[in-house]
Amino acid sequence: MTGRYGNFIAGREDFEGEETTLRSPADGSVVATVVLADSAKTKEAIDAASEAFKGWSLTSLKERQALLQKLADLIQSRSAEYSQLESLNTGKTIRQSTMMDIPLGIEHINYFATTTELPAPREILHPEFPGTRGMVQYAPIGVVGAIAPWNVPFLMAVWKLAPALLTGNTVVLKPSHHTPLTALELARDIKAAGFPDGVVNTLTGSGPSVGQTLVASPKVNMISFTGSTATGERLVSGSSGVKKFTLELGGKSPNIVFADADLAKAVKGVLFGIYLNSGQLCESGSRLIVQSSIRDRFLTMLKEGLERMRAGNPLDMETDVSAITTEEQKRKIEAMVQGGIDRGAHVYYQKLIAQVVPKDGLYYPPAVLTDVPQSTPLAREEVFGPVLVALEFESEDEAVTIANDTEYGLAAGVWTKDRETAKRVAGRIEAGTVWVNEYHLLSAAAPRGGFKKSGIGRELGLEGMMEFTQTRHIFVNEGGDIDDVAYGLVLPE
Ligand code: NDP
Repeated sequence: MTGRYGNFIAGREDFEGEETTLRSPADGSVVATVVLADSAKTKEAIDAASEAFKGWSLTSLKERQALLQKLADLIQSRSAEYSQLESLNTGKTIRQSTMMDIPLGIEHINYFATTTELPAPREILHPEFPGTRGMVQYAPIGVVGAIAPWNVPFLMAVWKLAPALLTGNTVVLKPSHHTPLTALELARDIKAAGFPDGVVNTLTGSGPSVGQTLVASPKVNMISFTGSTATGERLVSGSSGVKKFTLELGGKSPNIVFADADLAKAVKGVLFGIYLNSGQLCESGSRLIVQSSIRDRFLTMLKEGLERMRAGNPLDMETDVSAITTEEQKRKIEAMVQGGIDRGAHVYYQKLIAQVVPKDGLYYPPAVLTDVPQSTPLAREEVFGPVLVALEFESEDEAVTIANDTEYGLAAGVWTKDRETAKRVAGRIEAGTVWVNEYHLLSAAAPRGGFKKSGIGRELGLEGMMEFTQTRHIFVNEGGDIDDVAYGLVLPE
């Protein structure tokens, strides 16, 4: 048991409201209690963010970066606690929290704290109007409603908070009510770092209450959402008023392996691509598309790799297999796989883990499926679990056609030793990120986001920062005589 958390509104931890217990998906043990915010609390948080915006939007970039740096340092000093909390709350392996989620989040705050990429205001000339000049400024948008999912809670909170704060916005953050703990811990450190009250407000609560209130509020100027395509579509169509949306949604990402690839590396990349976080990542490489001439050999190598992956208690540093974070998600995975099998899919290999994982935990044994009919949800929809669908191709054109035959377009992997093939294929894949001879690696400088139904807008990098700004143009007449050209309107002396 790690403690009791309230909601953070206007710099205060607020314990008013219904308390609920969070249990570890790894073994069912109690992890913490949290207070559920409702619509009224959400409106209080929005008001606090609105009020704080008046001062925060006037602070300098230097001041904001100094606070972000302080925050990164504070988290760094407690990174082991953050890792433990993230694993307890989500069921992911402690190795992943310790080596990926928490250090990446810290690195990414550091990037925003030190970046010099954010464009300064720039002067322009108006070629049509000599004697005038313009100033283009990048202003903050206002109050950002940040709605995050349950799969990588700390990183998702960082990706929304850091660029929003850097650019002068204030935030109401709603982590998933299943996994709010590291976001709440972050709220405590945001206070300790010295951010003014109300600049960040963090609420635990469900989508239909807290999330919907954020989307419906005319005082919230932007929604930064990560989650399912279905919910993302619903939010946009149900939104009232004029609001900016960035949406990072689902995926069905292909990992294409050519016969000339370094197969030992490609096998590791494909395993890493799908089984990291037990496949509960939006960009998980859930479709293997392997060249026919090496298909059987490659599947055998995959099976051997999967056999070597270690299942056990996720809090053991040696364990590779994460738990499934929610009961609903486990049921969804089971139903999609069974649906595929009922329509002809074949389980090529499924790892036996039941004897070694903690009982009372939520687990799905990692699987590889072949002969999956393209018409089934298993082949076309996001499973969000440790389930790899193996497909094959003969020609490069066919590989690209199969890769693009999905409504999603978040990410892809291409494995080949031939640079020209890699360049050609990567350039034809409809996806926001394409890794060549690599998978999953994330740079804070690289914009991320989706084509097609995988989303709108970008996170991280310069493009990600610019999403949190709006452009202001100031037109200055410096004494030039433009009265004569007032678009035909005769202005009397
Ligand atoms: P959702 O898309 O429903 O949830 C994502 C976030 O949106 C959560 O914070 C959720 O709140 C919130 N939310 C839900 N409904 C609303 C609403 N009406 N208004 C405002 N906010 C809302 O994902 P699920 O958790 O239900 O997972 C379902 C599927 O989504 C998964 O199986 C997976 O396929 C996909 N998914 C994709 C992710 C990605 O990174 N792209 C991440 C997570 C899931 P709360 O959960 O607290 O109710």
